[in-house]
Amino acid sequence: MQTVTKERFRYGRGIQLIDDSGVAYIDGVSGTFNLSLGYNHPHVVEKVQEQVGNLAHMSSTFTEPYVNEVLAHLTEYAPNGIDAGWMRDITGSTANECATKIAQKYTGASDIISLFLSHHGQTQFATGISGNAFRRKKFPNSSAPNSLHVPAPYCYRCPFNSSRPDCGFQCIEAISDSIEYASSGSVACMIIEPILGNGGNIIPPEGYFQLLRKLCDEHHIILIADEVQTGIGRTGYMYASELFDIKPDIITLAKGLGGIGVPVAAVIMQSRLDVLEKHEHSFTSGSNLISVTAAKATMEVVSEPGFLDKVKWKGEILGNLLEGLAEKYSFIGEARGVGLMWGLEIVDRDDAPDVAKANAIIEQAFSDQHLILRGSRYGFGNVVKVRPSLTATEDEIVEIVGRLEAVLRNVG
Ligand code: PMP
Repeated sequence: MQTVTKERFRYGRGIQLIDDSGVAYIDGVSGTFNLSLGYNHPHVVEKVQEQVGNLAHMSSTFTEPYVNEVLAHLTEYAPNGIDAGWMRDITGSTANECATKIAQKYTGASDIISLFLSHHGQTQFATGISGNAFRRKKFPNSSAPNSLHVPAPYCYRCPFNSSRPDCGFQCIEAISDSIEYASSGSVACMIIEPILGNGGNIIPPEGYFQLLRKLCDEHHIILIADEVQTGIGRTGYMYASELFDIKPDIITLAKGLGGIGVPVAAVIMQSRLDVLEKHEHSFTSGSNLISVTAAKATMEVVSEPGFLDKVKWKGEILGNLLEGLAEKYSFIGEARGVGLMWGLEIVDRDDAPDVAKANAIIEQAFSDQHLILRGSRYGFGNVVKVRPSLTATEDEIVEIVGRLEAVLRNVG
């Protein structure tokens, strides 16, 4: 579903977009979850403007001193001995390709395991490794021939019709079976989103990641956390890997790293995995100085003392309000999330995904309430996402939920 406006948005202020006639729209989803600091955060704007005036771009042959500053900052907060990095990508899609190339080169194996309902990007290869069956159907030749997709840990709609705590983690058993099926030694890596973002804000159950780590260790499989959505403070932690104790070998980042929407991506990994030669994964605009400067400025803001504590606190306010809505409106099957990353599972009377109602909520929020929300096109399509910028104030969070409730009353 695409929201269309006849108005042209002229400028952004904080978490608002202002159209031609001066009408302000409140953005409840940070653009496409990438405006971690809103539309015009003064620190990022200032640093980027200064950099554009001095030196907007030079060949990546010379950018290392700038890149290393950002990588030092990113790895300072990273879990599991991650202390090296790569910053020659512009998008999350190719950052994920970089990570899988690293795993393949390091292990000498070729297969890549990912979850159904996962989304790892839009290039041919990233589409191929994404576990979004609906989307791949349209591109049957996506060139990721060695990718295996395993059931998602989607407890609300368990693919095995089981429930925690008695399910025996059949979703993990299925991964184990896939590894056997792929024949031992041929799997290079498993790539996972700590929270399946576009698949429907799906949070795996407690204990899942620990079992996954064990399985990867047993089979010498590299574990890649795609933190393109969850990274850089979104969950109230710098990395969701820390929150869920995932212990990945590699983390990929993009979206929120650019702070005000500047395109930038990074791959951070344990130094044993720093195996790529420069010419093996490099793009003309990768490590562009505007991007690298935006990433540095963003990290300076997000790592300020107390910043992430505030995100956690605001996340609790948002979560409590959304859980309150789920109790009140029977067509919200579940409100789930953490930090400032939430989703509402919209259901019909039989608890089946109600895509039409989810789309109506998003459309009416935009047209009647001037509130921007997004859906979950890569999953079943019935989850309405709420993910304001990390800089949203408490009042703005209350305002977002207030406008959302006005819509829910109407569509109910
Ligand atoms: N991984 C995840 C989890 C994503 O949500 C996305 C984009 N929605 C990507 C990768 C791809 O990032 P990009 O659009 O920057 O290529």
